Amino acid sequence: METPRISVVIPVYNEEGNLPELFRELTEVLEKLSVSFEIIFIDDGSKDRSGAILRGFALQDGRVRIIFFQKNFGQSAAFAAGFRSARGEIVVTMDADLQNDPHDIPLLLDKITSYDMVCGWRVHRQDSLVRKISSRIANKIRNWLSDEQIKDVGCSLKAFRRECLRNFYYFKGMHRFFPTLMKIEGCSVTEVKVNHRPRRFGEAKYGIGNRAFRGLIDLLAVRWMKKRHLSYEVKEIVNG
Ligand code: UDP
Ligand code: MG
Repeated sequence: METPRISVVIPVYNEEGNLPELFRELTEVLEKLSVSFEIIFIDDGSKDRSGAILRGFALQDGRVRIIFFQKNFGQSAAFAAGFRSARGEIVVTMDADLQNDPHDIPLLLDKITSYDMVCGWRVHRQDSLVRKISSRIANKIRNWLSDEQIKDVGCSLKAFRRECLRNFYYFKGMHRFFPTLMKIEGCSVTEVKVNHRPRRFGEAKYGIGNRAFRGLIDLLAVRWMKKRHLSYEVKEIVNG
């Protein structure tokens, strides 16, 4: 298979109800773009029929690749595995639950010509009030402590130039800091408004409890990384 230009990376954890529609919508959008692509699904230890459904996609379409995790390792691990196996010059990430809209992908690709990373910003979030409020608070604290101005870091719909993904330090929870981690490496980041849809099938995997505390620790680590990032400029090398 020739090297695709775009790799779409999608973590999947118990999303059987969403996958057929996601695959249909996504391939339709990508085919219209007339660029080569691959779709990498990472099955993060699903216990429902997600794995079997994904195998079905791969059988019918050679552009689909699947990474099966031994057990549930979490979304950051799934993204890391996807990034490492992606071959496209541009990597697009999204959720598998149909909350992100594949029709926004062309918008992201449009912007990635001038930036190293493009983040989706869910202007009209379709989540519970508790989720919306807790995310708003989390975004505020995160921006404050890491000296950032990212409006919606929790949106998985993002595009990256793959060469920029090689450098930063991979850790659990990193997906909540992608824009900052990219900027630390000197990459340019922008945001675009994207659509957001309510979850129709399956359950949300996160609540406040499993996010807030760990998120804070990670935030302090990222703050440290940003402050202590090692940089230097060489003026001259002799006998190098
Ligand atoms: N997910 C995953 N591993 C996990 C938890 C979630 O791969 O341990 C996937 C999930 O299937 C979905 C995405 O990550 O594609 C986001 O999860 P979810 O929709 O539950 O998060 P929310 O939209 O509530 O932030
Ligand atoms: Mg979701």
